[in-house]
Amino acid sequence: MKIFCVGRNYGAHAVELGNAVPENPVIFSKPDTALIKDGAPFYLPDFSNDVHHEVELVIRISKMGKKIQEKFARNYFNEIGLGIDFTARDVQSELKAKGLPWELAKAFDGSAPLGSFISLDSVFDTEKQEIENIAFHLTKNGETMQKGNSHDMIFSFEKIVSFVSNYFTLKVGDLIYTGTPAGVGKVAIGDRLEGFIADKKMLECEVK
Ligand code: MG
Repeated sequence: MKIFCVGRNYGAHAVELGNAVPENPVIFSKPDTALIKDGAPFYLPDFSNDVHHEVELVIRISKMGKKIQEKFARNYFNEIGLGIDFTARDVQSELKAKGLPWELAKAFDGSAPLGSFISLDSVFDTEKQEIENIAFHLTKNGETMQKGNSHDMIFSFEKIVSFVSNYFTLKVGDLIYTGTPAGVGKVAIGDRLEGFIADKKMLECEVK
């Protein structure tokens, strides 16, 4: 099982980190040891003093494929959920400054909490033949920190699936974290993060 993530897929978040809005999706991956499931806690790593939450819509691949055309991409994923792309921002800044890969800042153990999923059919607008705008948000200790809507993604789910599949064969169960909206911030021991799609709680994670 593979985990792909999209960087800078919301204009406002690219701007808050001082990054240019990209022409193609920025893709990186995490190993399966990054996953945290079933509301298990996240243990702050000792190599960072600035771990940020990035709440993201996550799609799950439902059919094997490679070189998938964008117009057929919808046939290759059928569920959507929420996850957090934990990022050691201090480590990432150092790596970026040196032009080095991001893995140490992005792919460490526990860096990918994953919540529950809903069927995409339940958020499909049959009239427009497209996935409805999906609103989501993250609270920290009950206070809303990040609010996003799939409508604001620079690259659509279909574009991301098509792009990734040009380089990597997608298999059933692979996950794609589709980028974070503005409002990322530092987490501390004792914080309780909760993620929602519309008003439905999809994810919770305590920082230990
Ligand atoms: Mg992210």
